[in-house]
Amino acid sequence: MGIQQIEVYSVTLRYKEPFRIAPGASSESRNIVVRILTDYDVFGWGESSPSQRVTGENTKTVVKALDRIAPKLIGMCPLRIEQDVEAMDAVVEGNPAAKAAIDMALHDIFGKTTRKPLFMLMGGYRTEVLTDLTLGIKSPKEMAKDAVRAVRRGFKALKVKVGVSPAEDVECIRLIREAVGGDIQVRIDANQGWTSKQAVEVLNKIEKFNIQLAEQPVPAEDIKGLIQVKKNSPIPVMADESVHSPEDALHLIQAEAVDLINIKLMKSGGILKARIIAAVAEAAGIPCMIGCMGESGIGIAAGAHLAAAVKNIQYADLDSDILLKDKLVTKGGTKVKSSMRTFPKQYGLGVKELDQKLLGEPIRVYK
Ligand SMILES: [Mg+2]
Repeated sequence: MGIQQIEVYSVTLRYKEPFRIAPGASSESRNIVVRILTDYDVFGWGESSPSQRVTGENTKTVVKALDRIAPKLIGMCPLRIEQDVEAMDAVVEGNPAAKAAIDMALHDIFGKTTRKPLFMLMGGYRTEVLTDLTLGIKSPKEMAKDAVRAVRRGFKALKVKVGVSPAEDVECIRLIREAVGGDIQVRIDANQGWTSKQAVEVLNKIEKFNIQLAEQPVPAEDIKGLIQVKKNSPIPVMADESVHSPEDALHLIQAEAVDLINIKLMKSGGILKARIIAAVAEAAGIPCMIGCMGESGIGIAAGAHLAAAVKNIQYADLDSDILLKDKLVTKGGTKVKSSMRTFPKQYGLGVKELDQKLLGEPIRVYK
């Protein structure tokens, strides 16, 4: 079996409302979609949702990386995913979001060829995945209203974006916990917005509001600060921006800097390396979450299949396709009801149909 053709599409997906986190706001997500065709009458979908802030990538760098990667992969076997990933790493360093799109499409082909949903092939630990819904930064009162709306829609877990000002962050968490009651899981994400001193203060103040975990309290490169926060926080501390690769995970675990790790396919370079992160973490007794950037239902399906497959991926923050107004996947993919992502009886990622208007014509075709 061989890879015959790789098509690259550029898509812009609008959010329902501007989505604000500590470092800034966005009104749309610019993604790159790839379709890998094989000589076996099977093709796979993959998606890149690059983040300049997190991995230094954007749609231009992704296409540039694919310009080098794709010709190398033509003729290679799509089922020998480790070889394919090794080949990608040999032609370009870094560029994990670009590589994630290829890795995802290869996994889709793997499932379609073997006629199984991907999560069943990769371990099949769960049949559904509980996802949170993320509340972007607004005033504390508005965020409490958004929290109530999310709970009314059936969400059992909320991820609250904080990291603006410590006083406002504490007030926001207090109002949200008051508004949603005790049964809803509340996680927070400061997106590098605090100093270690501020983080320790805030986390000690909000402990009484039963916060499940606190994500990336300090800047990504401030590992010393992260260690300090973990040591002095009553709430488990999760690394997101500080951990991209399996090597980063090992390093932070050895440094005793984290209680939890947030894996994202756009940081790891895809499913293969995400599974290695989960395994490294599992060996150290560190549970993982799977998160997302601004993926449509394609990338979200990949994350959900991984989360369902792997025991140590115990939390999921897979909600970007819910926050986006433009729905690229029109048929298939995963469904969400009452916080649970479920899988259709489809092979691979299960993505059946895309909105052709949003997808447009390929900007590159390699063969
Ligand atoms: Mg995060």
